[in-house]
Order: sequence, then structure tokens, then C-alpha cells
Amino acid sequence: MNKQGFTTRQVHADRVLNKPADGTVHTATTNSVLYAFDDAQGIIDVFQGKVLGHVYSRSSSPSIASLQNILNELEGGVGAVCFATGMAAISGTLLSLLKAGDHIIMSQYLFGNTRCFADTMADLGIQISFADVTSVDDVKALYQPNTRAVFSETVANPATQVADVHAIGQFCKEKSLLFILDNTMTPPPLFDAKAAGASMVISSLTKYVSGHGNVLGGVVVDLGNYDWTQFPNIKSNYQVADTAQWGLMQVKKKGLRDMGATLAPASAVTIATGLETLALRMSRNCENAMKLATFLDNHPLVEKVHYPGLSEHPQHFVAREIMHGGYGAILSVDLVDRISPRDFINALELVICATHLGDNRTLALPVASTIFYENGLEERQRMGISEGMIRLSVGIEETDDLVNDFKQAFSKFS
Ligand SMILES: *Cc1c(COP(=O)(O)O)cnc(C)c1O
Repeated sequence: MNKQGFTTRQVHADRVLNKPADGTVHTATTNSVLYAFDDAQGIIDVFQGKVLGHVYSRSSSPSIASLQNILNELEGGVGAVCFATGMAAISGTLLSLLKAGDHIIMSQYLFGNTRCFADTMADLGIQISFADVTSVDDVKALYQPNTRAVFSETVANPATQVADVHAIGQFCKEKSLLFILDNTMTPPPLFDAKAAGASMVISSLTKYVSGHGNVLGGVVVDLGNYDWTQFPNIKSNYQVADTAQWGLMQVKKKGLRDMGATLAPASAVTIATGLETLALRMSRNCENAMKLATFLDNHPLVEKVHYPGLSEHPQHFVAREIMHGGYGAILSVDLVDRISPRDFINALELVICATHLGDNRTLALPVASTIFYENGLEERQRMGISEGMIRLSVGIEETDDLVNDFKQAFSKFS
């Protein structure tokens, strides 16, 4: 199946990988919480891992297993575990694999809630250092003997710093460190996390993967790049015969089964449907973002545009090497001082003021006073977030309609 193009594989993945019953092309929503066994030995064998099967839907169920197969195929991994949200995937994965006394190097440019979660990990005794991931030397300088993992976003939200992923991947390989990448902003086929050397890729399925703003979900995929026999934290129970499954086995048991943030079966089916058009939507999202970024960059009332597709972006060349077919669809804008971000967003008519990204609709948000408010001024400055920054998540509308909305909004301030 791998030789076919991305969209071809996506629209056939459910049918080919999961073989839904009666010739249907979508896996059905299976709501049963429990699974009946004719012979008690059957449930014993599944519990003891001798036979694959479902016993209770907090741990696994058919609709979610099907989505996991599709997401794993999309990333070229060795397995996937879904969660109720992207944050559940992040917290479930990190808390399953790290323990008190471990050290993790995290990007200093993180999604606000992930940054707040880092404080929770620190309270639990996990040491954290924050690195400027645009430079691998900054990451290397923070390495200590108890470092277990590096966590970064590929392109950071909202200021669009691009991590030096290939160099970090190489460094992690040399040191046997887990390299966990949050790739929510640039899903495949835009960016190939496996080729970059990531061990695990996490994605909020709420965003581009589902795309329609009508479902929450998250996933972690093991990309098969990491040798789990080098990782000291895998419990003996989870050291199964196939060493490639050690990490996910522990995430499934601790992060999903014990912590319990299970994706709803109906959500899995909604996400799988959205996923069929991911490449088509993403290409339109990116094309619109590039055009809007160029328009804004040339506008006299705009101070600065943060978008990796612009040649003046500090990591434009890295982005050019690692992105395929676009530069993502998140861009952030600083307007000239005299225009307040609140007034400008209110002047937009088509663009929606909302906190979300990766939607079919274009969204605008003043970030310092909302999603990064709790992080405080100092942290925002370290993250490269200015107080007036407006984040735009560019949708799939007609480009002219978007540009015209910005034109009419600017006209109210000139
Ligand atoms: C939205 C987002 C998350 C969290 O995902 P939820 O599904 O909202 O929990 C994590 N990382 C990034 C980069 C995001 O944009």
C-alpha cells in the first residue's frame, strides 16, 4: 500500500486495513463497553496478552483500533494509541514514560497548555530544561546523564519558530534519547516525522487531522526509530517479545488504561471521516496562508508577519527543507502600535474570533491576553510572543474573500 500517493491511501485505508463488515467502507461506531466470551479461557488469554482482543472499552475497542491503524499507516509507524484529546495524548505519554528524577529537555516554544503541564511534571519531580529548539547546540548544551527525552513541536504555536528537527533527531539517536514531537501544526503529508528521526509523534486530532471543528481527539504514534531496550523505565510486564512495542505497551497500560482519557468511539469515526480529505484541505489551507501572509507582509499597517513560508522568517531555509507542499497555515501578525488587536479582530467580518486552529474556517485570536495569559509576560517574551500578537489559523475559503476581509478591516483604521 505504501507505494500509492497519500490521498489514495487515505481514502482507502479504512477499507483496506480494517476490512469493515458487509463491504462497508467505514468502520462502524461500536458502543459496547463490554465484550462477551463463550469460554472463560478466552478472556483469560486476552488479559494475559496471549491473544489479541478487546475486554473493556476504556482500554480498547473496534472503532478506535481502526482509527489507530489508519493513523499509524499515515505516519509509517509501528503502532498508535488514541486519546480523548491532544492534551491527554501528551500528558498520558509523558507520565507513562518518565518518572521522578528523570530529566527532559523541552522546547521553550510550546503550546500554552503543554507549557502549563510541564509545571505539573516538575511538581512531580521530573526535571525540565527549556531549550531554544531552533538550534541543536542549545539542546545539546542541556544534556545531563539523567536526560531521557526531548520534547518539541515541529513548528511552534503561535510564533512559528521551526525546530531543527533533523539535527535534534540525530543527537537523540546518538544519546539514545526519546525524541517526542508534537506535530499538530504540520500533519502528513506536509511533514514526515519518521524521516526526521522522531521516536514518537503526537498530534491533536482535534485540529487539521479531523479539520471540521466538531470533534476532540489525540494520538501518539511510535515511529519505530527508537530502541526501547535502551530505555530504563519500561516495566518488566510491558517488555513484550516485540521490543518495538515496549513503549506503546506502557503508554497503553499506564497512560490510557490507568489514567483513563479514552477517545469516544463515535469521535473515532468522525475523525476517520475528516482524515480522508486531510491532504486536500491542507494544501488549500497552506496556499491561502501563503497568499495572506504575503498580503499582510506588504501592508503598511502591519509591523511583522511570522510565517515560515516568508523568506525573511529566521528558519525559512529549515522549513523549506523539511516541509512538503506548503509551510502550514498558522501565521501570526503584529500590527502597528496604534491598532489594538482587539479592535482589529472586531473589524474582521468573515474571519471568526475563536480559540482553535486547523479548522476549515479562518480564525483569529489575540494570544497574549487569552491562551498565553496564564503563562505571564516573562514566559511570553521567552516564547517570542508579543503583547499585540494576533494568531491566524487560515482556512479553506476562497483566497480573495479572505484578503478582502482584511482589506475592509484595515480600511477602518487608515
Ligand atoms: C491544540 C493543541 C494541542 C492540544 O490538543 P487538544 O486536542 O485541544 O487537547 C496540543 N498541541 C498543539 C500544538 C495544539 O495546537
